[in-house]
Amino acid sequence: RQMDFNLPLRPQDMNWKETYPNMKQGEHIDFADIGCGYGGLLFKLSEMFPDNYSIGLEIRKKVCNYVKEKIIALRHNEKGKYLNVSALQTNAMRTLPHLFAKSQLSKIFFLFPDPEFKKRKIKWRIISQELLAEYAYFMKSGGIIYTITDVYKLHSWMKGHLEEHPLFTELTKEEYQNDPLINVISTESEEAKRVEKNGGTKFLACFKRK
Ligand code: SAM
Repeated sequence: RQMDFNLPLRPQDMNWKETYPNMKQGEHIDFADIGCGYGGLLFKLSEMFPDNYSIGLEIRKKVCNYVKEKIIALRHNEKGKYLNVSALQTNAMRTLPHLFAKSQLSKIFFLFPDPEFKKRKIKWRIISQELLAEYAYFMKSGGIIYTITDVYKLHSWMKGHLEEHPLFTELTKEEYQNDPLINVISTESEEAKRVEKNGGTKFLACFKRK
């Protein structure tokens, strides 16, 4: 069983100043990109929401290091920018309670998560009733979960679980139309670009925390 000994027991014990040098007392992470991969979404979030802090969680060490190094390079090249974005190598299925407090997050992203097709691996899917209860706990009311995938089976799995959960409700047609992030999640991540290039279909499901 993989353990993260480098994480504090409680979120309030985490020293976020090390990762976000400009973070002031009382400020906290607002957006989480779960399974951030190479970080395409994070850089966009940093530009679009200069007053919000985003974190990418990525289980693969090499991939996470790539994102961290890119952030360092961007901060170096464009002084004063990208200070509100960071990445952490961790298994998001296990460690969120060490990172976030109740009602903290206003957006959680699941962009092109691994489909885990095999029956015995379905328990590794990043959306389930158990994990949705956790996500709901960390989210502000009115906060949004964004999911997108090119795998229809996974889409109906994620959407089905979100519909079933009493604390989430799907965005209305107008809300889908008016949220600028809908276009961003369909185009900005590395996986979104790959699907686009291959002419694949992208399936979206976005739900609001009640
Ligand atoms: N979201 C990115 C994008 O759209 O380009 C990456 C998509 S990639 C198909 C899925 C990513 O999720 C991989 O980088 C994988 O390592 C990561 N991942 C899978 N399970 C995870 C977990 N439990 N915690 C954190 N990251 C995870």
